[in-house]
Amino acid sequence: MNTTRYDVVIVGGGAAGLSAATTLGRALRSVLVIDSGTPRNAPAAGVHGYLSRDGMNPGELLSIGRSELLSYGATVVDGEAVAAHRTPMDSRWFWEMPDSSPAGACSSPPA
Ligand SMILES: Cc1cc2nc3c(=O)[nH]c(=O)nc-3n(C[C@H](O)[C@H](O)[C@H](O)COP(=O)(O)OP(=O)(O)OC[C@H]3O[C@@H](n4cnc5c(N)ncnc54)[C@H](O)[C@@H]3O)c2cc1C
Repeated sequence: MNTTRYDVVIVGGGAAGLSAATTLGRALRSVLVIDSGTPRNAPAAGVHGYLSRDGMNPGELLSIGRSELLSYGATVVDGEAVAAHRTPMDSRWFWEMPDSSPAGACSSPPA
C-alpha cells in the first residue's frame, strides 16, 4: 500500500472539513482532506446565512475554500475513504481509498 504520513486526515471536504483543514494548515500541521464530492447543499441555488457570501453558488464557495486551503500546503484527494485501521504497535491510523491512491497515516483518532 502506498502510504503518506499526515498529522491529520479529514474525511469530508465540505464547509466543515475545509474550515478545519485550513485552521490546521495555518497551524503548520500537515493535512490530507479526502472528499467524495457530494456536499448536502449542492442542490441549492445559493448560500445564505454565511456572512459576506449571500447568494453565492455552493460549489463556488467550496472551490474558493479549496484554493485557500491549498495555499497552506494541504493535500486534497477526490475519492471516498472506505476504511480506517489502527496499527497495534502505535497510535497511527491508516485510511484506505477504493483505488489505493494516497492512503494517509495520522496520529490522531478519526474525526
Ligand atoms: C438544500 C440545502 C440547502 C442548504 N442551504 C444552506 C445555506 O444556505 N446556508 C447554510 O449555512 N447551510 C445550508 N445548508 C446546510 C448545509 O448543507 C451545511 O451548512 C453545510 O453543507 C454543511 O457542511 P458539512 O461540511 O458539514 O457537510 P457537507 O457539505 O455535506 O460535506 C460533507 C462532505 O463529506 C464528503 N464525504 C462524506 N463521506 C465521505 C467519505 N467516506 N469519504 C470521502 N468523503 C466523504 C461528502 O462527499 C461531502 O462533500 C443547506 C442544506 C441543504 C440540504
